[in-house]
This record gives sequence, structure tokens and C-alpha cells, in this order.
Amino acid sequence: MIDDGSNSTLSAFEEVNQRLDEAGEIAGVPEEVMALLKNPYREIKVEIPLFSDGRLQHFVGYRIQHNAARGPYKGGVRYHPHVDLEEVRALASLMTWKTALVNIPFGGAKGGVACDPLVMTDEELYAITNTFFTRISMILGPNRDVPAPDMGTNAGIMGWAMAAYGRINGHAPAVVTGKPLELGGSVGRESATGKGVVIIASRWAEKKGLSLKGAKVVIQGFGNVGSFAALNFADQGARVIAVNDVRGGIRNDKGLNIPALMEYVRTTGSVAGFEESDPVDGDEILYQPCDYLVPAALGRVITEENADRVRASTVVEGANHPVTPGGEDVLARKGVEVIPDLIANSGGVTVSYFEWVQNIQQFAWKEERIDDELHEILQRSFTTVVDFAGEHQCSLRQACFALALSRVYRASKARGYIRV
Ligand code: GLU
Repeated sequence: MIDDGSNSTLSAFEEVNQRLDEAGEIAGVPEEVMALLKNPYREIKVEIPLFSDGRLQHFVGYRIQHNAARGPYKGGVRYHPHVDLEEVRALASLMTWKTALVNIPFGGAKGGVACDPLVMTDEELYAITNTFFTRISMILGPNRDVPAPDMGTNAGIMGWAMAAYGRINGHAPAVVTGKPLELGGSVGRESATGKGVVIIASRWAEKKGLSLKGAKVVIQGFGNVGSFAALNFADQGARVIAVNDVRGGIRNDKGLNIPALMEYVRTTGSVAGFEESDPVDGDEILYQPCDYLVPAALGRVITEENADRVRASTVVEGANHPVTPGGEDVLARKGVEVIPDLIANSGGVTVSYFEWVQNIQQFAWKEERIDDELHEILQRSFTTVVDFAGEHQCSLRQACFALALSRVYRASKARGYIRV
């Protein structure tokens, strides 16, 4: 297990399985079926040698295909020093339930390479990407497994991934999503996860008779998810009062100027030192008083040990698995509501689906269509979750997992390989 600050004796994968067990009972999925649905279908580990600067290094990469009952495996590839098998298993499982919850025709997978892209040159990143995707290419394909960006990867890396696959199998843009526009990427994909976070938060506010206007927002992480979430919150009239990244944190109670901050990050590489802001140290970002706290970086940052210090009314999970089950119990006792990752950050994979559809149709949609369809899918899914939670008197998290489990269970039965 990685040392991620959590004192939990369970691994991330075991924590996800604990949540699935609870949901399985609510959804009435038989126990022996649960045992099958929890475990990944296929796990691949590859060695990635890198010869650079006169030195031979080697890295380890994984691709975990969790479940494909509802369609091709789908999920990102992460480059981060903490990547390990149990974490990738957890993330792969979460993708199965995420795609089922928003009802797009995919299963779930995740990949990762244990490396630190922040200290690597472009040449090194290219070499690692090329080797990794070549070595897993036999299990990929537009109708088999479709990777996408995740933490530490981006559109450029997906372009290299598509090319690595294409050299072996021929040109196939639908084999990866989140690509550059020049290679068949979709408009609106880059901002989709952050935008989805705000679509869901705004629906949540509406259901409570509130509005995002003037709401105080704090965001941990200012990468792809955090920065676009900030931009969309600001567009809705919310005040983003504090954000951070690996190099530092900043705060301004009047609200940070997000477009200017994004420009600042493009030139300096970090939010640290931005004009008219006070510094916020490390984890302190999580304890700032606010209406919405959006963890949009690593997993397992709110745990049994520190959840008591959270002073937000609602936690919106931009990251995958940022709140441990123990942390969630503490938040529940304090009356802090949690909008779970499965729905809160599902905008990214939803627009990935649109990208895949456009690639297959060889026809590009207009931005307006992407935006309308994204709103429709997310709002419909969220309403289903809220209604289910009300009906079954369970948490939003349990509702997400229970709805997703029933869909995957029904699809598995329809295929004939689960007969109970
Ligand atoms: N990595 C993103 C996620 O965790 C997107 C996955 C995808 O687009 O396939 O949802």
C-alpha cells in the first residue's frame, strides 16, 4: 500500500469494495455475483525501459481491465510516482461504476505508470508513452479498450498513444479519447471534467433552493479538473476564494480572478505567488471555511484522521476517491454533504464518449451539441441518483453505486454469463 497520508488499514481497492458491498445489499445483488463483479477481469503489468542521458532506467506500467459487460473497457492512464497496483485496481473499478451510472456504453479500466512527469523531459515522456502503449497495444482497440488522459497525462500524450497503437494496427482514432483536435479529438473534452463538476454542483444548489451566485468555493488542485472547475464556478457567479497545486496555495476572500490565474499558471507553472493573494500551506487548503470544497487532485486526502477539520458545507469530489469511507463517516456526523466522484467528475468520460462516437461516425459535432448533450446526461443521471437516495433513504454515494451495480448486473445476466 502506498503511503498517501491515510492511516487506513485498507487499500484503496478494498475501500471501493467495501462501498460496493453496502450498495450490493441495497440493490439486491446476490453475494456470489458481488464477488465476481468486484474483481478485475484482466490485469497487465509491463516493464518500461528508458535510455536517456547516458543512463538506463526502468519504470513499471499497468493496465487493469475491470469490467466490459456494458461495452469496451474505458478509463484514463495516470503518470504519477504513487501509482501502484491496488490504486489502479480501485480506479479501474470506479470507471466501471461511473460509465454505468451515466449510462454510456462502456465498461471500466485504468492504467498507470509509476513515474514523475514533473521531472521528465518531453523526449523521456515520449519514449515512456511509446513503449507503454506499444506493450499494451494487443489489449486495446476502439471496441476493446479505450484509454484517455488522467492525472499527469494530457492530450499530447494521448496523441502519442494513438500513434503507437496505429503503427501496429493501422490508423484508429477511436482507440483513445482526449486526443489533440488535430488527430480527431473533440471540442470541449479538455474542460469537460471541470465543467461537469459545476453542472452537478449547480443542480445540487438548485435542489436545495440555493444558487451558486456568491457561494464560496475552495479547490485542491489546479490541473485539468481543478482549473476548469474554478473557471466554471466563477462563470456561475461563485467566488473561488482559495486554490492550490503541488507547489503552493493561495487565498483571496474577495474571490480570485480565475482567467488571470490560468494565464499566470501557463507562464509560471504554478498558482503560488499570484497577485493579490495570501499563501495557504499544504493541506490547510482542505480546512478553509467555504460552501463548496472541491478536492481535485489525489485520492484519499480526506480521511478519518483529518475529516473533522473540514469546514465546508458540501464536498464535491472532482478527484477519484478523495474521501475514504472513514472520512465520509466523520463528515456525515458533522452534517457535511458529499457529492461522490462517480457523478461529480463524470463529465470527462461523458465527453470522451462523444469523442469516440464522433471518431466512429467520422463526423465532428459542434461545441453547442457537446455542451447540450453533456448537460442532459449529467442532469438526468444526477436526478436519478437524488431520487434513488430519497426513495431508499441512503447516501448519494450508496445511490450511485447501487444504480451502477444493478445496470452492470443486468447486462452481465443478459450476456448469459451470470445466471443467478
Ligand atoms: N480519467 C478520467 C476519469 O477518471 C476520464 C476517463 C475517460 O475519459 O475515459 O474519469
